[in-house]
Amino acid sequence: MIFNLGSINADHIYRLPHLPTPGETLATDSYHRTLGGKGANQSVAAARAGERVCHIGAVGPDGGWMVDLLEEYGVEVGHVARSDVPSGHAMVCVDNAGENAIVIYPGANRALDLSDVTSALGVASAGDWLMMQNETNLQMETARLAEAGGLNLAYSAAPFDADAVRAVLPFVTILILNDVEAGQLEKAMGVIEVPQLLITRGAEGAEWRDTVSGEVILCPAVPVTPVDTTGAGDTFAGYMVASLAQGFAPSAALRRASAAAALQVQEPGTAEAIPTSRETAALLG
Ligand code: ADP
Repeated sequence: MIFNLGSINADHIYRLPHLPTPGETLATDSYHRTLGGKGANQSVAAARAGERVCHIGAVGPDGGWMVDLLEEYGVEVGHVARSDVPSGHAMVCVDNAGENAIVIYPGANRALDLSDVTSALGVASAGDWLMMQNETNLQMETARLAEAGGLNLAYSAAPFDADAVRAVLPFVTILILNDVEAGQLEKAMGVIEVPQLLITRGAEGAEWRDTVSGEVILCPAVPVTPVDTTGAGDTFAGYMVASLAQGFAPSAALRRASAAAALQVQEPGTAEAIPTSRETAALLG
């Protein structure tokens, strides 16, 4: 079972001929609103991979539709609080090459109450997984609770925040970074010391380092033509952790996560583009 302390955002997606440059105003006819947020995306990915997922988070008065969607994707939403603060949202600009630029308003995601976390983790068992990213409050408090309960912690240090990472790192089982975040972390803190490290490198694939056993696995990306890479890393992270929770060896979990992410980048959107376990299995053959 996975518990995921994570953001839930309304993604407002604009397709543009190119990303706006400083001082530039761009108009577009291509707009749609959808469920996003690193946390929600990772929960959907892990649920799509067939794992039981309890999302811990909050939406504002305007966010009921997002909770309904999470539930439709198979995520347990009993611990998604209703806040007075407006729901988090993101403005996602995507250009013709599939590159993106994103602005985030955290809103309710940063107004979580520790009692919501405590009651959610009250039903966790030793050996369960906790996922976290940097788009909510309460990371360190939740990491402490996870350690006390014997949970494994998979932490995506994104968006990168050196102070948040410093506080959470001692509790981490798997640290998940993309190559930009890995560079930021190494610059801020030098050598990264965690039991397991997963670095995703877009079309160049992913690297797994088990610093306990010394095992290093390089997993190439599936060669595809992307239309929208928003949420690729979250798809990878959710599938990876779900697969490990289901008992896959790291190499098989990496292949499965890589296949899921390759399918996801070929569709527009974020959560709705995350493939099912069956679709992912079909690509793996
Ligand atoms: P993030 O979304 O966090 O920046 P990445 O861009 O590193 O994450 O992508 C995560 C994973 O998604 C990669 O390791 C790869 O497996 C897959 N992926 C991303 N972009 C592509 C692509 N263009 N082609 C195939 N797979 C991709």
